[in-house]
Amino acid sequence: MKPSALRFLVCPACHGELDLRADRRDAEVSEGILACRQCRRAYPVIRGVPRFVAERTYASSFGDQWNWFRKVQLDSWSGTRESETTLEATTGWRDADYVGRLVLDAGVGAGRFAEVVARKGGEVVGIDLTTAADAAYANIGRLDKVHVVQADIFAMPFRERTFDLAYSIGVLHHTPDPRAAFDRVAAAVKKGGGFAVYVYARYGSAHRVADVVRRLTTRLPRRLMLALSAVAIPLYYVYRVRGLGEALRLFFAISMHPNWRWRWLDTFDWYTPRYQWKFLYPEVFGWFRANGFLDVEVFDGPIRMRGVKTS
Ligand SMILES: [Zn+2]
Repeated sequence: MKPSALRFLVCPACHGELDLRADRRDAEVSEGILACRQCRRAYPVIRGVPRFVAERTYASSFGDQWNWFRKVQLDSWSGTRESETTLEATTGWRDADYVGRLVLDAGVGAGRFAEVVARKGGEVVGIDLTTAADAAYANIGRLDKVHVVQADIFAMPFRERTFDLAYSIGVLHHTPDPRAAFDRVAAAVKKGGGFAVYVYARYGSAHRVADVVRRLTTRLPRRLMLALSAVAIPLYYVYRVRGLGEALRLFFAISMHPNWRWRWLDTFDWYTPRYQWKFLYPEVFGWFRANGFLDVEVFDGPIRMRGVKTS
């Protein structure tokens, strides 16, 4: 972690100021302790990441996922602009919107979007509940203006109204209470700041079969699911046969991403998380309005929305 993170990090329990004791450091503090001045709780810095989460959680599949597929979705590794394009499709923000801004990535995963934000000149704080924080730190943690923190979206180590911009892409629907998670991130945004989300949509009926299949797959051992998900790699060619593919997809959905690693990752990502809620546009619109976001826009590729906090 960078000592400069003390500008915005506070105790998640009482929002008191934190003191940093560095046991190992170069440009970054790799091992140390963050101690709350107010309630005296202490939080460790381990392998460069401040840890505000103790044990394995409901989202542990993502810890495995992002360490196993650490680099697949990074634009700098894939040589594409797919993460940049997805970020733009969800937020509508332009390059100039990031420059000099403090940006929260709620559910950073392996850091695919945070990498883009940092490249565009934003100072980005990526939080993740799981050991995905280790993958993100290994990928981008030492870049200038990147901070990676292992923290719970329901108990974030930030004061209210800290961030100029916040986004949460493909994350809230994997929490036990997406509406409450939305409220927490929204509270961390400054007045006049922006918040953008992508959550799964409940439109259509294809997801109903997947929900039944997931009752089994979410209970299977993680490494078995890693092996089973690999069936998407060759199955892709069968699913591309006109007519046959559409029919098969109704019963067993796989990622149809042209990159085989990405296809494997996305299929694993669909069948393993414990929670996978789905929403309609009016529901998410209501969340924005209830949190004081009056200027709300919707984008294609449900459900993608952003708002500007006006109160
Ligand atoms: Zn405290």
